[in-house]
Amino acid sequence: MVFCDVYATLVLSSKNRMVNVVMPLPIFYLFFNFGAATDILAVICLKSEDGVIMLKLPKQELMSLISELRRLGFEVIAPTRSNETVRLAALSSPSDLETDYIRIINSPRDFLLPSREPLFRYRSTATVTSYGLKIRFPTVEGPCPVTIVPEYTPPKVKIAFFGIHPCMANSIRYLDKVMLSEPADPYYKARREDMFVAVLECEEGDQYCLCKTVESYKVPEGYADLMIRRGGDGFLVRSRSKRGDELLASLKRGEVAGKPKDLVPRLKEEYAFDRTDEAGIDERDASEYVGACTLCASCTVTCPTCYCSDIEDKFSLMDPSNVERSRVRMSCQRRCYSMIAGGTTFLNTKEARFKWRLKHKFPFSERAYQLVGCVGCGNCIAFCPARIDFRKFLGRRVA
Ligand code: SF4
Ligand code: SF4
Repeated sequence: MVFCDVYATLVLSSKNRMVNVVMPLPIFYLFFNFGAATDILAVICLKSEDGVIMLKLPKQELMSLISELRRLGFEVIAPTRSNETVRLAALSSPSDLETDYIRIINSPRDFLLPSREPLFRYRSTATVTSYGLKIRFPTVEGPCPVTIVPEYTPPKVKIAFFGIHPCMANSIRYLDKVMLSEPADPYYKARREDMFVAVLECEEGDQYCLCKTVESYKVPEGYADLMIRRGGDGFLVRSRSKRGDELLASLKRGEVAGKPKDLVPRLKEEYAFDRTDEAGIDERDASEYVGACTLCASCTVTCPTCYCSDIEDKFSLMDPSNVERSRVRMSCQRRCYSMIAGGTTFLNTKEARFKWRLKHKFPFSERAYQLVGCVGCGNCIAFCPARIDFRKFLGRRVA
């Protein structure tokens, strides 16, 4: 119970004046649960002896936080619902915020690493001749004849993710490891730098979640400015950074601080496997799993940590010297992912591609970053048309 040793501050209205009343928690509960506090201004500060402070806010006040973030210049990206599908989108109105959901079909990655990003333009000496396109190649004709035109600069945006689940906050941590390792990716860095994150903790997952296996229900320091959880008919919001403190202080409901433990969600199924067992992945027969694979690539499109990309040059035959170079997302489940000049394809079977994906997520990432590349969201299972479940291939069900 995180609220032991707690006293509460009620902010009451009395004759048009605000009054703070401090009381022990049991009395506060009586006050709150039996309707005695009809004049509570909807915000209650809970403070423990070691300085833990939380605000209890109705959903309306949660929306005030979104409005304040927008006033501070953030583009607020939050879960929104359209029929049965919940997805992250830039909020046009704070009331579009969806807080009653388990999974989203997209992820912070789609905003930090767009599926297509123009990088720059370059001018080459390519010309159109009567027999086609003529391009001078630097290796056979001297120095590189290409001039980079720095037409694109890294985007300067202030993104606030509001109401993402802990697994998604962990996916940003993984992307940081990959994209900010030297040499850092300037495009990712520019979007990432001023980011604000408000995490909505999960009480329970569905049959596809595996956050307990990879421990992604815990949000590491630096990956949440606010932690939000349900509390009665409202939300308990606690700060985990200076910016979080400042945002909560903007509500003018009292001082904030705090450090209760992260919630451990209830899961319908739990699995255990060895994350470092590369040989085991190679040796096991995956035909039972990949037989029904349609190669649709949903597993990588909806995965919050898949970042593989290809480079695409776009030019017009009218002006072949003026080329736009873009980074476009690529899926390891596609055959062309590992195809090289001459047509050789290294991952030339479904089984090889399935195993490659898992090796990248687990042993390769563990080795390169000391962090697994799977944050346990379960999207690759939930959105797979064949419901191919990699947990059963890698390990066994334990609960
Ligand atoms: S989502 Fe399923 S069917 Fe589609 S490529 Fe991935 S494993 Fe194959
Ligand atoms: S591999 Fe699957 S469960 Fe893991 S982060 Fe990607 S989509 Fe989620």
